[in-house]
Amino acid sequence: MSREYETVIGLEVHVELATKTKIFCGCSTQFGGEVNSHTCPVCTGMPGSLPVLNKQVVEYAIAVGLATNCEITRHGKFDRKNYFYPDNPQNYQISQLYLPICRNGYVEIETEAGGSKKVGIHEIHMEEDAGKLIHDEWAEVSLVDYNRSGVPLIEIVSEPDMRSAEEVIAYLEKLRMFIRYLGASDCKLQEGSMRADVNLSVRPVGAAEFGTRTEMKNLNSFTSITHAIASERERQIDILESGGSVVQETRRFDDNKGESYAMRSKEDAQDYRYFPDPDLIPVEVSEEWIEEIKSRQPEFRPAKMARYKEEYGIPDYDIGIITDSKAMADIFEEATKLSGQPKKVSNWLMVETLRLLKEQNMDPEDIRFSAKHLADLIGLTEKRVINSSVAKEVFEKMFEDDTDPVAYVEEHGLKQESDAGALKAICEQVIAENPKSVEDYKAGKEKAIGFLVGQTMKLAKGKADPGTVNSLLKELLG
Ligand code: ADP
Ligand code: ZN
Ligand code: MG
Repeated sequence: MSREYETVIGLEVHVELATKTKIFCGCSTQFGGEVNSHTCPVCTGMPGSLPVLNKQVVEYAIAVGLATNCEITRHGKFDRKNYFYPDNPQNYQISQLYLPICRNGYVEIETEAGGSKKVGIHEIHMEEDAGKLIHDEWAEVSLVDYNRSGVPLIEIVSEPDMRSAEEVIAYLEKLRMFIRYLGASDCKLQEGSMRADVNLSVRPVGAAEFGTRTEMKNLNSFTSITHAIASERERQIDILESGGSVVQETRRFDDNKGESYAMRSKEDAQDYRYFPDPDLIPVEVSEEWIEEIKSRQPEFRPAKMARYKEEYGIPDYDIGIITDSKAMADIFEEATKLSGQPKKVSNWLMVETLRLLKEQNMDPEDIRFSAKHLADLIGLTEKRVINSSVAKEVFEKMFEDDTDPVAYVEEHGLKQESDAGALKAICEQVIAENPKSVEDYKAGKEKAIGFLVGQTMKLAKGKADPGTVNSLLKELLG
């Protein structure tokens, strides 16, 4: 029955920008400071204080707009959106209604069928974030923390072009890739630096008009977005099937219960009594400035993936992992340039680096070791100065504090036993001390050599190369 309905979805995505200071004052945007410590008269809405626009916010907004094929508004302005709530000290939010910085763009996503599809971007505008209410149930009071008040946001409003949860996720992934590659935000749904409101309606397949939509808030993971879409689609179809009509409203989705409930009826723009902010001068964007930002745009993931395939010939799987973040891709390229060993670099990144990042709950952006040191480490293993288990140990140290692997190996005497005479003497000793294994080996039990190699490695304190030991032993055993 429900297959006869089409789902129609448009998203409003808020992204907290990674500027050092707030959008209209010099306060820090750092997350987690002591309550109300990152505040001043401007971001606490004191009478007489005046906002001054942070240029970096405009740059990030334009960069995201260029990445998503938008037109950039050359003469823009800010508007006041009036509403009354204690997390909003001015009683208005500075936003952009009439002349948003970017308009009429699109993002291309891959569809399940293997094709691609354009999701329209209606606009991207700049605005300020609100403070945060803390409800203290014990003291029966609500407190407010204004550290987040005035943190810069961009809101990316899509056209109602998506038709399934898969398309929504693909769209969000694409946006997140652009924004992370630009360094404009870390886009973490769980931490709220990326927040998606889902507008959804259903209509009979083939209908020309859209149905009435609802908007769902409070979705902080892709899983919760997927659940919310499935549940809201069913709810709306049930209403229509039983002869009712969907009410346009904002709903809050509770992922634990798997259902949403009404928060408030949808406000219209006029409810906010928008008007141009008289305290801010117009935003003038010159052609040169746009060109300059354009020239600084990074190579984004799809182009990078194609180039890596062509240039480095490493497996698609590796390419997918390495290009997931620009930070990782940058290290890969630099270390490959220095070592000439793309696959070796890729292995260190995919295996050991990812393992340690995960273990220590870090992002690729937090990697401390330099590409130079990774290339040096690879050089040490290639020249067989150290064996692979020593290399892992050195890498862990490097991961911690960017230790220079060459100096570290030298200082800690980790070089392989390269003195052929000394190694041979150890092998002879092992052979003499393990007659049973020697006998087994001579009787054709190939595996016995493994034990002898192990014993030799132990005596050589791990500094021997297992391959060399293996052939040396075989030679001695005739
Ligand atoms: P408003 O001005 O009330 O905020 P907008 O036209 O700006 O409404 O749309 C807000 C979001 O809702 C946009 O992302 C848009 O794509 C989406 N949207 C609009 N109409 C529908 C609809 N009928 N079904 C699903 N999404 C819709
Ligand atoms: Zn401030
Ligand atoms: Mg809107």
